[in-house]
Amino acid sequence: MLMSKERRTAIRTLRGWAIAVLQEAGAIRECEYHGWMQDRAEPHARERAFQIARLDPPPDLSPEAAADAVSEVLDSIGDTCPECPPEV
Ligand SMILES: [Zn+2]
Repeated sequence: MLMSKERRTAIRTLRGWAIAVLQEAGAIRECEYHGWMQDRAEPHARERAFQIARLDPPPDLSPEAAADAVSEVLDSIGDTCPECPPEV
């Protein structure tokens, strides 16, 4: 897996940045076995992530574009790990 533990100091892509923001806010989490990102479906954490994105966007991005990037990543992440057996 390519999921890294790097923090925001070493974000290379916009998607990586958005994932870091979502993780920081607690809106997504990493499967501890496979490393896939999972949406935690936590409205407050999502709100926090958008707040962080707008207040602290990447240097070359507007607050709106940063928030868009976060919502795009959120849309692309499922709420389950594709490799974990289904919940019982
Ligand atoms: Zn998993």
